[in-house]
Amino acid sequence: MTSASPIRTDAVVIGAGPVGLYQAFQLGLQELGVHVVEGLPHAGGQCAELYPGKPIYDLPGIPACSGQELTQRLLQQLAPLRIPLHLGQIVTSLQRLAPDRAEPSPRFRLATDGGLAFECDALVIAAGVGAFLPRKVPVPGLEAWEGRQVHYRDPPADIWTGQRIVVMGGTESAAALALQLADGGAADVTLLHRNDRFAIDAELDERLQSAIGAGWVRLCMGQPVGAIAAADGRLEALEIATADDRRLTLPLDLFMPRLGLNPRLGPIADWGLALERKHLVVDTEGYRTSEPGIHAVGDVNTYPGKRKLIVCGFHEATLAAFAIAQWLRPQERVVLEYTTTSTRLQRLLGVGPG
Ligand SMILES: Cc1cc2nc3c(=O)[nH]c(=O)nc-3n(C[C@H](O)[C@H](O)[C@H](O)COP(=O)(O)OP(=O)(O)OC[C@H]3O[C@@H](n4cnc5c(N)ncnc54)[C@H](O)[C@@H]3O)c2cc1C
Repeated sequence: MTSASPIRTDAVVIGAGPVGLYQAFQLGLQELGVHVVEGLPHAGGQCAELYPGKPIYDLPGIPACSGQELTQRLLQQLAPLRIPLHLGQIVTSLQRLAPDRAEPSPRFRLATDGGLAFECDALVIAAGVGAFLPRKVPVPGLEAWEGRQVHYRDPPADIWTGQRIVVMGGTESAAALALQLADGGAADVTLLHRNDRFAIDAELDERLQSAIGAGWVRLCMGQPVGAIAAADGRLEALEIATADDRRLTLPLDLFMPRLGLNPRLGPIADWGLALERKHLVVDTEGYRTSEPGIHAVGDVNTYPGKRKLIVCGFHEATLAAFAIAQWLRPQERVVLEYTTTSTRLQRLLGVGPG
């Protein structure tokens, strides 16, 4: 599905990790039209997904700051520039529209898995270690029911009311979802996991164990090995191999696996840009990839001396913004201005004198 009218803008940033967010800020200071597209339902990238509560100790001038707090601060800093953030949208395709920048038409068209399309003159890939995609259940044929009876992301609540649901996984999100469904109107909730040990915090484990003890959540220990279809084509049940080598049939209406997320560079690796060990090769002047108009910053890029640190990504984003501004306005000289003294920058940020 693609939206009828693409969003036309100067630049698109793929990824709302710390570097993508700062990239948008720097492009905004250059007064370019910017849209940010992020596959996860929230901003922050690895900081929010992998270590939200852990302190970071090497950000300049901030002795300690958690991944979550850094994300909030970056979003706060970005807010005055009113740059749209499109969350829960994985960029899946890149199309080249106009090979010659002298033409008035935009250069690139991007499409997302959620049906959005963008047309832009410059693209910044800030995709980090890749899009965080749900780990799939390795049962042959199961993909045929994805989006209908098999849901790797939370579907709207009205879908599950009165339904028999199997949640799979030993993760925090599996346990929390099973409890939420049991509490939220599902007819029957089974938590399918290979054993009775869960990688979750003590408080959640206590709530889960008491829900299992009270019979609100049923625990099924085993692995799915087959999908059983009804005569009308619906997914009727899963075939389970239990830990003690028995086979059983687990009937269901909905299957919600929560096996964790896997970062994947995915389609970006197929866009014909120069790669070195799955990283985009860039120059260190404007962090340009092998194709004019496409830049890459943060963990996704590589160049001699590259270090995957947030502060390095911030530097790259700053220089990339200058390079993009100059490229899009070849007649002008893009000059350096300080936020401390520039009334133009202060006006953009809504600070300073009137
Ligand atoms: C446990 C841990 C601790 C760390 N501690 C530190 C530290 O103390 N100091 C430090 O400097 N660094 C630290 N790092 C590294 C730091 O987190 C990374 O350098 C930083 O997150 C890179 O930011 P980024 O924006 O480039 O990429 P990411 O944070 O990976 O964000 C990339 C974003 O792009 C999105 N994305 C990818 N592909 C697509 C697509 N096709 N469409 C839409 N969205 C897409 C992803 O969903 C993701 O949100 C740590 C990393 C880890 C794992």
